[in-house]
Amino acid sequence: MSLPSDCLFCRFVSGELHTEIVGQNQRAIAFRDINPQAPLHVLVIPREHFADVAALAAADPESLADLVGLAQEVAMDEADGEYRLIFNSGPAAGQSVFHVHGHVIGGTRLGWSPA
Ligand code: 5GP
Ligand code: ZN
Repeated sequence: MSLPSDCLFCRFVSGELHTEIVGQNQRAIAFRDINPQAPLHVLVIPREHFADVAALAAADPESLADLVGLAQEVAMDEADGEYRLIFNSGPAAGQSVFHVHGHVIGGTRLGWSPA
């Protein structure tokens, strides 16, 4: 697991590294995925570092609520409020960055074949 000082997404939150922020609220920020898989592909992350969504939910449920609210806001702006919110949890599920992030996917009719 990355320590926050090594964590790419913590560095986006702090501003140490630049990424274009497309939405934010008190506890979360949203930015576009560098390798988009759909017309809308934004990542929503808490400002505070947690490894995965279960750790976030256990430690700070209000922050998880802010994260979901921000996903909804971005999807309202860019995909008529219809979207998929995905939290890959663990390497076997495809998690490669260990600062919890929700993938907000939409802007087209989505298929259903994750495996
Ligand atoms: P995961 O595989 O952990 O579920 O998702 C990590 C996501 O972060 C991937 O979809 C990947 O494209 C995205 N990503 C990795 N590095 C960067 C980066 O430097 N900037 C942005 N905007 N996205 C990144
Ligand atoms: Zn982090």
